[in-house]
Amino acid sequence: MKNIATKLVTGGKKEALQNINTINPPLHRASTVLFDCYADMQLDMQGKFEGIAYGTSGLAAQNAFEAAMAELEGAYRCKAFQSGINAIAMVLMAYTKQGDHVLICDNVYGPTRHFCTGFLSKYGVTADFLPSNIGPDISRFLKDETRLVFMESPGSNTFEIQDVPAIAKVCREKGVVSVIDNTWATPLYLNPFELGVDVSIQSATKYITGHSDILLGTVSTTEERWAEFKTCCHLFESFASQEDCYQALRGLRTLHVRLKHHEQSALDVAHWLTAHKAVDKVIHPALESHPEHELWKRDFKGSSGLFAFTLCDECENMDHSAFVDSLELFGIGYSWGGYKSLITGGKLKRNNFFAYEGKTIFRLNIGLEDVDDLKKDLEQGLAKLIS
Ligand SMILES: *Cc1c(COP(=O)(O)O)cnc(C)c1O
Repeated sequence: MKNIATKLVTGGKKEALQNINTINPPLHRASTVLFDCYADMQLDMQGKFEGIAYGTSGLAAQNAFEAAMAELEGAYRCKAFQSGINAIAMVLMAYTKQGDHVLICDNVYGPTRHFCTGFLSKYGVTADFLPSNIGPDISRFLKDETRLVFMESPGSNTFEIQDVPAIAKVCREKGVVSVIDNTWATPLYLNPFELGVDVSIQSATKYITGHSDILLGTVSTTEERWAEFKTCCHLFESFASQEDCYQALRGLRTLHVRLKHHEQSALDVAHWLTAHKAVDKVIHPALESHPEHELWKRDFKGSSGLFAFTLCDECENMDHSAFVDSLELFGIGYSWGGYKSLITGGKLKRNNFFAYEGKTIFRLNIGLEDVDDLKKDLEQGLAKLIS
């Protein structure tokens, strides 16, 4: 008979291990994972244990989400991280060492740029920024010590598209790691591995989880590039929250349905804005007016719900608060991919030639609201700029 304090510690353990066959994976909360026997622990001490040895090695929900993503992307393996920028940082660290050089497309997510200039530089890795619409002429920028090329296509603020297969081909020929941040298209609308890319990154914070309540990132690689990446992840003992992986897996189940709706509403709003007299350019890859529209048509299977526009000269040089603050359905805030519509606005800087230099770029995340209501909201808002 056990004493009370022992009962408090051991109670329910046997029942908890029952194998209950639910549709969704169980949610483990664990640092310690128990070995079946001492021999297994000895194997682990020698780095030879095949199973899960600790909470950082990947619990059920994380493993399930990673497996689902790898299958979806046609990748060798996928690993989840606590945020998109975490995933990006891990990739940049995994494939570089002191003395290496990396090439980064100029239109990348701001924190990706800052990680290169502010962190990699401390460890002797230099970065140059490529024209955002770079293609086969990437060769001109490669140095002997170039190890990695980082693409974001389209860029999530200004939507320039790179010639991804052409860049991937040059990288393969030269043994350079090609990486793409594929958050905008998701694996449904662009498959980087079919185009010859080595490493694909998702901010699952966006469409995959889809509800603006989770931060999560993924990295998927080819078989050839996996071992080097995995070693780095082991050293950092990176992992993702089980609850967040669970929600991301749930998000995958409805991704195609949500994305279709985002796509159609965004196209509707984009076309409507094109004809609006306050608007100068609508920047959306699926519009024929987009500078790399032909590349989009060639490589992508669809467009998502994020695009931008600029204002006509007359409206550019005004305080835009009246417009933005009057919007009822568009929240003023960062991030995107969720069910609620959002707006961001501001001027951006680039290292290379920039088509929207000095222009305020308004970026819209088109959510799942009724599209006519969204247009009405923008109409009354833009009216504040035209007197
Ligand atoms: C948001 C975003 C990220 C970063 O993702 P977090 O999960 O917010 O860290 C990376 N790349 C792109 C293109 C993004 O839009």
